[in-house]
Amino acid sequence: MITTKLLLAFSICRLIATVGLNMGPATELPRLGIDGLLTVDPLDIETASIDFGLMTRDPPLAVLHPASADDVAKLIRTVANAAEEENGGFTVSARGHGHSINGQAQTGNGVVIEMSGGGRQHRRVGGRGASPPLPVVSEKGRFVDVWGGELWIDVLKWTLEYGLAPRSWTDYLYLSVGGTLSNGGISGQAFNHGPQISNVHELDVVTGNGEIVKCSNEENADLFHGVLGGLGQFGIITRARIVLEPAPQRVRWIRVLYSNFEAFTKDQEWLISLHSKTNSNEKFDYVEGFVIVDEGLINNWRSSFFSPANPVKISSFNKNKSHGAVLYCLEITKNYHESSSHTLDQEVEALMKELNYIPESVFTTDLGYVDFLDRVHKAELKLRSKGLWDVPHPWLNLFVPKSRIADFDRGVFKGILGNNTSGPILIYPMNKHKWDPRTSAVTPEDDVFYLVALLRSALDNGEPTQSLEYLSHQNHQILEFCYENGIEVKQYLPHYTKEEEWADHFGDKWPEFQARKLKFDPHHILATGQRIFPAFKPVNMAVSR
Ligand code: FAD
Repeated sequence: MITTKLLLAFSICRLIATVGLNMGPATELPRLGIDGLLTVDPLDIETASIDFGLMTRDPPLAVLHPASADDVAKLIRTVANAAEEENGGFTVSARGHGHSINGQAQTGNGVVIEMSGGGRQHRRVGGRGASPPLPVVSEKGRFVDVWGGELWIDVLKWTLEYGLAPRSWTDYLYLSVGGTLSNGGISGQAFNHGPQISNVHELDVVTGNGEIVKCSNEENADLFHGVLGGLGQFGIITRARIVLEPAPQRVRWIRVLYSNFEAFTKDQEWLISLHSKTNSNEKFDYVEGFVIVDEGLINNWRSSFFSPANPVKISSFNKNKSHGAVLYCLEITKNYHESSSHTLDQEVEALMKELNYIPESVFTTDLGYVDFLDRVHKAELKLRSKGLWDVPHPWLNLFVPKSRIADFDRGVFKGILGNNTSGPILIYPMNKHKWDPRTSAVTPEDDVFYLVALLRSALDNGEPTQSLEYLSHQNHQILEFCYENGIEVKQYLPHYTKEEEWADHFGDKWPEFQARKLKFDPHHILATGQRIFPAFKPVNMAVSR
């Protein structure tokens, strides 16, 4: 422990010598001429040491709240120069909103750049340092330029002032633009519009060389494609130009149940095949679904729809009332304007009559567009009030090829999981051709693949099946099951620690991924928390976790 403390003190001294950081609770960077704040404030350090997963802890040496791409570039240039001159040095990780699971935005041996809008608030409260630029909607309303750390909820609020909104979403909006674009950004709209990385025209990126580069399909395309889904490896997104559409006013939100997995997936696949319909009346706007393992009542934080005031008993829908039976819930929505609400019932009915759900299991609600998009936040507030949000989250997100989803159902939903899920399990298909193959994101070979998201919370309540160890072991069993049965899944929001695992994950894209690293972050100083490449001659410092 003494050695660790000494090494930490030594590293901080070196950081001070490198970037000119004044020791103090929150202070500016005189030597770099940065407009934002570089701080060693214990609260900032604590926030940047953890993430939503709450399974890893890695305190950085300092935290930067940048005010501009220039601030980011100045810091990275200094760190890159130090790396070159000293044959080692420090690392830099952008942190969006810290909603990773396995420490992907952490860095123990360097500086965390707090990109998110929370930083803007922080500076306002502290009254020091400048703020990042505000969003700018284009003249014709086709796109919006936003700061890379902007939260999607703020992008929505901003664009709604112009009657516009982005068209591809995540289920939860308190995530940063740069964070989701570094992964994919998916929700029930992805079958139609593609993931968020298919809905961005242009980026400003600060590379690992400290250069600010504008990139798009036409300009610096290698960097543009590399950064999208690139897990923060090639640069820090400081501006994103996001595609907009006229914002719908309201949403008809429908849920229906299935006891037969084949019928469920057949209907989901048919619904997403309708993406090619040019008339938007002939398709739904959002297609998702989730698995309900027999726990008595349909009850998890993603099913607040079936509220405690309106409890729904699984057995009442399951002909096979045996223990451990599984139900599947299809979730679909149709956006509409008040002015077109008169045709809505007909359009919905025409689509619904093609589906083979349990007839008496239709649950429908109507709500405002923002209320629908921001639905998970409501669940968050409830969980927070019960102390159930800030708990470890051993989440596992998999892309499963369509050709093997039935095997996955048999082996995992009806097998490994038993009858205790400890959280929502989402399942919905997407069309592969909506994902640009030039980006760094990887998906299975099949033309259609499913997201299976096991969003579980570990509780320290004495119930062994809810413990972190139990759920982590189950994740391991699921991956083993896929491996042993030749089900070629790809992890979404991947977590690996060995180079050969990453090589396998990226498959054909691995040589290109490595070449882009060499080109855009040759010193390996960026996003080391992803554990893809070793940090360039890292200072041998292991802060105890
Ligand atoms: P962070 O966790 O802070 O960062 C993630 C990675 O991106 C890190 O490697 C970081 O260094 C890098 N990074 C961050 N900002 C930048 C930047 N500006 N430039 C370059 N690299 C950067 N995902 C979905 O696709 N769909 C969902 O519906 C969805 N729902 C979620 C719900 C919850 C409650 C949670 C916790 C997560 C959910 N996610 C979802 C996952 C989410 O997309 C990832 O956690 C993602 O990393 C975004 O989170 P963040 O902005 O907090 O990024």
